[in-house]
Amino acid sequence: MSPSVTVTDRCVGCGGCLLTCPTHAIRPVGGTLHVVDELCTGCLECLEICPVDAIEEQPT
Ligand code: SF4
Ligand code: SF4
Repeated sequence: MSPSVTVTDRCVGCGGCLLTCPTHAIRPVGGTLHVVDELCTGCLECLEICPVDAIEEQPT
């Protein structure tokens, strides 16, 4: 199963999505943010909280 969202390079590193994600699916990996497929429920709360629209919904 692929992740429901991806973090793009527009991310400014505010950390809001990490704190907001109810399943802690967003993790810092090597200086960028990675969405753990198995944990993401597709709730899109991260997408809504991001101040710079850096998170995109994955096409299904
Ligand atoms: S869509 Fe929901 S579960 Fe998935 S990374 Fe964003 S906040 Fe977390
Ligand atoms: S909320 Fe947006 S800008 Fe902030 S860390 Fe997450 S993806 Fe980056």
